[in-house]
Formats: sequence, C-alpha cells, structure tokens
Amino acid sequence: MSVLSRALLALTLAVQPALATDLPDLGEVSRQYFSDQEEQALGRAILRDVYADPRYLDDPEIETYLNQLGYKLVSVSTRNQREFTFFVINDPTINAFALPGGNIGVHTGLLLTAQNESELASVIGHEIAHVTQDHIARMVASQSQSYWPTMAALALALLAARSNPNVASAAIASTQAFSMQNQLNYTRDYEREADRLGYEMLTRANFDPRSMSAFFNRMQRASRFYDSNAPAYLRTHPLTSERIADMEARSESAPYQQVEDSLDFQLIRARLRAQDGSPADAVLAARSTLKEKRYSSETAARYGLVTALLRARQFKEAESEVQKLPSENNSSPMIQLLAAQTALAAGNPALALQRYQTGSNAHPGYPPLQYGYISALLATGHAGDALTRVDKQLALDPDDRRLWYLAAQTHAQLGQHLLSYRAQAEAAALSGNLVAAIEQITRGLKAGDGSFYEMSAAEARRREWQAIEKAQRKD
Ligand SMILES: [Zn+2]
Repeated sequence: MSVLSRALLALTLAVQPALATDLPDLGEVSRQYFSDQEEQALGRAILRDVYADPRYLDDPEIETYLNQLGYKLVSVSTRNQREFTFFVINDPTINAFALPGGNIGVHTGLLLTAQNESELASVIGHEIAHVTQDHIARMVASQSQSYWPTMAALALALLAARSNPNVASAAIASTQAFSMQNQLNYTRDYEREADRLGYEMLTRANFDPRSMSAFFNRMQRASRFYDSNAPAYLRTHPLTSERIADMEARSESAPYQQVEDSLDFQLIRARLRAQDGSPADAVLAARSTLKEKRYSSETAARYGLVTALLRARQFKEAESEVQKLPSENNSSPMIQLLAAQTALAAGNPALALQRYQTGSNAHPGYPPLQYGYISALLATGHAGDALTRVDKQLALDPDDRRLWYLAAQTHAQLGQHLLSYRAQAEAAALSGNLVAAIEQITRGLKAGDGSFYEMSAAEARRREWQAIEKAQRKD
C-alpha cells in the first residue's frame, strides 16, 4: 500500500463515524491484486475485441450521445474520475455492463426500452460506480490464480460474460476462462454500493432519482415471465426486493421535479428505430409514427423518417422532409449532420458542403459533423481542404481513431504513402490492435516516400509500439 492510499484509508476511517448509516466502501483495496498497468492493458485488449465484434454498433452519433451522457454522470462522481469509453452493442436484450479499463457497454435494447432519459442514466450511473469501485477487477482477482488465462483470453472471456451471459461462445469455451464465466456475478455488497453511488450521480446530474426504482421494478416484473431466460442484465446484477426497497426509500425524500428528456435522447432512439429491419419497412414505420402522432417529439420522428428514407435511397423525399426540420444555426448538430448527408446523397455536393460548414461553425466540438465534413470533402475531390481539417481536428484530439482513419484516406488521395500507412497504424493502435499497427507502419516505412523527419518519427513510433507489445506478450 502506498503512502497516499494509507493516508486515504486513514482519512476514510476518520470520516466513517459521521457516516455511520452509510455502507462500507468496497473500493481502494483491489489495487494490491491488479495493477493499474495490468488493468489498462486489459482495457485495451477488451476494446480491440469490442470493435471486432460484429454486434458493435459503429455509429458516431449514437456513440457520441452515450459518451456525453456518461461523462455528465462521471463529472459529478465523487469517486476516482478515470477515463471512460462508452460503446453500444447492437442487441435487443436489455443490458449494460462494465469492464476493466473504464469500458462500459450498453445494448440497443436498453436504449430503446428505457422510458425516459433518467432511467437510462440510472443504469449507466450504476455501471460507472462498478468501475470507479473496481468491482470487476476485484471479482477477477478473487478467482484462483490458476484460472487466469492470458490477457487476450481474459479480455474475450470478460466481454462475452458481461455482454451476453446466456451464451458460452466457442471462443471462450476453449479457454480456461470459461470456468470463470459463471462466477462473475456481482455480489449483493457490490450491487448495494453501485446503487448508492449511482443514485448520488443521478441526483447531482439533475436526473429524476425516482427513475432508478421505476426501471428496476419493471425489470423485476418482466423477469417473472422470462423465468430461466431472465434479462441478461439480471444475470450479472442480481436484483433483490431489498435493493428495490433501498432505492425507493432513498428517492422518497427527494423533492419532486419534472425532468425533461433531451432532444438528443429522442433523436438517437428515432435513429435506432430507423436502422432496424429492411429499409422499406423502416420507412413505413417512420411514416406511420409521424402520421399518427405516436411520438413525444415531432422533430425526432421526422429525423427518423429522413434516416429511413436515406437507407431506402429515396433521396428526393428525404431532402423535402429534411427541410421541414429546424434549420436555425443553433439547431441540434445531429440534425445539421443529417441535412448535409441528405444533400450529398441527393446529388447536391455544393449544398452539402455549405451545410457542413454551417454546422461545423455552430458545433465545432461535435466530432460526427467533422467526420462527415472530411468524408464529404474527400468524396468531392477536395483532399487538400480535407487534410487541413483532419490535421486541425487531430491536434485537438489525437486519440480519435475515426479521425486517424480519415487521415489515412486523405493521405492516400494525396499520394502520401508513408503518412497514409502511419495514420492507419495510429487508428489500429487506438483500436487496441498493436500487432496490426506495427504491420501498417512497417509497410509505410517500406513505401520510402517520407521525408527524413517523417521516416524517423515513424521509426520511433514503431519502436515504442514494439516495446509495449513485447511487454504485453509476457503477461
Ligand atoms: Zn450491478
């Protein structure tokens, strides 16, 4: 134990009597089993498996929304505020799960069945608490060491066990990690702690604290009908009537306040529905939702219709519907992005670039607009402008793997082979795949078209990755 954690422990103990009704804190301790470096390596390996999973939903808008919501909660957490990565799994079952390295997955089923944004926030807050309190690391650490497979197998096993506890995939069945799968359910103590801290985040972030018990009550009622096929979430987060009673008791004293859902919440749900089923069916469903006024936001319903029309390649109809959406400069970046995409698809590149310019001026910090803008510049033969924009964005966020993929395409269009491979390599490394990163950068070095400075920078980067990769293989 470090001097700092000793001091923290002493402090915690000193404060404890004042919080006598509070439950003991279960965090802190696990670091003696699982180092920060080990957890980071495991987190990266998990992300690599997430991005390679066919169920991973590669949708920048929905992922950005989820990260914004997640960080809204993280920012008010009183616990260790590490980095988080929130991602979406395309799966109709109701589930959300936390993994080492601050990785939190949410099923599309949860996004769609939550009855309001506060319910979604309550589940995510609970998962964030599992992370800040190191519950997963503690569960893994409590397994007998002989069960520990390699880091890569452990990553895969954890992902499979959390995202779909009902399925024992062939991949994990073949490893020792399989035996771990059924033992990775949170204990009641972990659940209680995650509920308590989740509740704290929920109220501090101004969501409705009653939504927590409302959601869990519904889950429990639903689970009676499923029997052994209980929702995946309940498999890993045992739900007891005691837990629900605790949640209700906590929120009873909270002052009543009506919390309105954000427009973004409505938009991403409309977007998910529009992506479901065949394009023709999605258009039909969206049209009838709008016609019969079965929506809480007309804007979101129309946004869904345009999304479905684009899928069905009905570009003229899409453009005429998009023009009915709010078009002020400060309207939602998701709407401005959709309008630009529609113009490009409808064969009007000048209008598309103009809409991208407007949107990107109004929302410079919204990454999906930048991805769309850069792609549109590339598609319309403006590789030089695309390079200026992608470089500027990368300076702001060098850890954005999507920007690196776009940089690779931009350099390729400009005939810059080393820089294109280098960008591809950066994207692979950020996706947790160091082996692919080393392979790509090696190809770039062989292309031989870089300047002396670019060559030495790439060589240094390759050495850096090789060293990390070697260290990971030893684990
Ligand atoms: Zn839980």
